[in-house]
Amino acid sequence: MRTRLIVGNWKMNKTASEAATFVDELRQHLSKVPSDVELVVAPPFTALESVGRVLGSESFIQLGAQNLFWEPKGAYTGEISAPMLKDLGCRHVILGHSERRTLFGERGDRIRKKLQAAFAHGIRPILCIGESLEQREAGSTDDVLAQQLHESLAGFSSETLESLTVAYEPIWAIGTGRSATTEQAVAAHQTIRAVLSATASPVIAERTRILYGGSVTTQNIASLLSSEQVDGALIGGACLEVSSFATIISLASTTRSIGV
Ligand code: PEP
Repeated sequence: MRTRLIVGNWKMNKTASEAATFVDELRQHLSKVPSDVELVVAPPFTALESVGRVLGSESFIQLGAQNLFWEPKGAYTGEISAPMLKDLGCRHVILGHSERRTLFGERGDRIRKKLQAAFAHGIRPILCIGESLEQREAGSTDDVLAQQLHESLAGFSSETLESLTVAYEPIWAIGTGRSATTEQAVAAHQTIRAVLSATASPVIAERTRILYGGSVTTQNIASLLSSEQVDGALIGGACLEVSSFATIISLASTTRSIGV
């Protein structure tokens, strides 16, 4: 049984002090600690320390980063390394987000090196993959997902991949208000699990959490989580307000999978 995972990706939003206030309010808003859902917030780099300080090391809200650079240190102006994130208490890192791919030119080999650095430093990577609208309309969604997985995961042992999480994020659904339907998400997650089974192992495929991301809201989270194929969600816009994020978390905690 895979424990559900809800991840809030704040992108380039909130200053360090706004972020600290936000997590404090979020904790108060969640009247009980959800025992059946893992919760991660991924603030901008500049807010990791203030959020980590508010949360403390034992909090049920875990700290994640939105990116990292693969070298541990050196002359890489403007970059942040895995040891730096680890030192701030980051337990997860989002890698290969479509905004990194489209705006900053990240491709397979760079993402693979970032994954390698995350694995090597004990930070759990959340690998984002997903097709464009053009690719979906051309009927190549499955091929795109398989290719993105192959190029990022090539060469890693099954043992290493145990700490991997995959986020299926169709590009056309991110920030557009147009979520994938539950059926579309389930089909993509089944493809991803089949590719993981063939390239890593059936055990890894069974254990790996696959999140859905793309215009998740308080309105559609219950439906998306109604399949046992969907192990949680990666959330952008709807995690920026305490009340909508808290509602999504409670719905994730109370919605029972029907085993599709
Ligand atoms: C995201 O950026 O990962 C995302 C899913 O954003 P949104 O929820 O706003 O579509």
